[in-house]
Amino acid sequence: MKHPAWLSRPLKGQTVECLACSHYCKIPPGKTGICGVRYNDNGQLQLLVYGRPGAINTDPIEKKPLFHFDPGSQIFSIGTVGCNFSCLFCQNWELSQGNKGQPKETVEASGIALSPKEAVDYCLNNKIPAIAFTYNEPAIFFEYAFDTAKLAKEHGLKTVYVSNGFESEEALDKMTPWIDAINIDLKGPKGFYHTICGGRIEPIQKNIERLWKDGMWVEVTTLLIPGHNDSDEELKAIADFLVSISPDMPWHLSRYFPCYKMDAPPTPLASLERAYGIGKKAGLKYVYVGNVQTDYEHTFCPKCHKKVIERKDYLVHNHLRKDACPKCGEVIAGRFGNLLQD
Ligand code: SF4
Repeated sequence: MKHPAWLSRPLKGQTVECLACSHYCKIPPGKTGICGVRYNDNGQLQLLVYGRPGAINTDPIEKKPLFHFDPGSQIFSIGTVGCNFSCLFCQNWELSQGNKGQPKETVEASGIALSPKEAVDYCLNNKIPAIAFTYNEPAIFFEYAFDTAKLAKEHGLKTVYVSNGFESEEALDKMTPWIDAINIDLKGPKGFYHTICGGRIEPIQKNIERLWKDGMWVEVTTLLIPGHNDSDEELKAIADFLVSISPDMPWHLSRYFPCYKMDAPPTPLASLERAYGIGKKAGLKYVYVGNVQTDYEHTFCPKCHKKVIERKDYLVHNHLRKDACPKCGEVIAGRFGNLLQD
């Protein structure tokens, strides 16, 4: 459904600059920006996928992944078609890239109808405490996410972004008051973003730092692709960057499987264990390995090393007392409002 994409500004003639992400596309009439969902309709920018999610599910919050935000809770999750990146390894490429080059009428008709009110009502009626904007990049469907998040917060729900972190400053200024937590991909070094993702690392690093300082709960994910972003130096650079913001920020190391245009072999378990060691040695208190079953998906108290949150197949067994280790009382960083206690 077409809806004014108000996070934009007019330029000369009928060209419009989109302000939703750090590409800042200058879009002439009759064209979309890089993401393929923001369309210049005679000098007015329109979001073609407002209220048209292409993927809807109720997931465990651990699937986002968020491990320190209401562990064990369910989250209603929506995403549209399109993306502002074009990662060659995208694990969701049918959704994120399939719309590109399609006529605007096809993009407009994608997904199913779900207004912000219908999404919020669904959560309230089914006692689902939170909504996530996920599956594709929510920055590109800003106005739909904004209206839904605002309404959700006004009704006492929590809100989550799962993002590549490439939002514009303008988007974060508007969205931050309405979002409780975010998982941001930090995919690799500068060159990796240029050659493999179609993006830039600088705005992402700036946004991770800004959001943490603003008080949003932030967790970071890196998908390890053998030979592309998994050297000791590359991983140490990411870990050092996160520690420089806060050693409390959880880092998720995710196993890659060949997908879309990338045919590197699946990440060996040894690489994930090596990355885990690099993260811990750098000083991060909470490092996790995902997309494969290991012992690195539990939360351990950073002081006495007791297993304080156990996870297996999205089943969560929480031993925390409020937000503290039951053995030594060390406070575990996170937001633990909807905890499922022992
Ligand atoms: S969201 Fe980003 S990629 Fe899409 S039109 Fe706006 S600036 Fe371009």
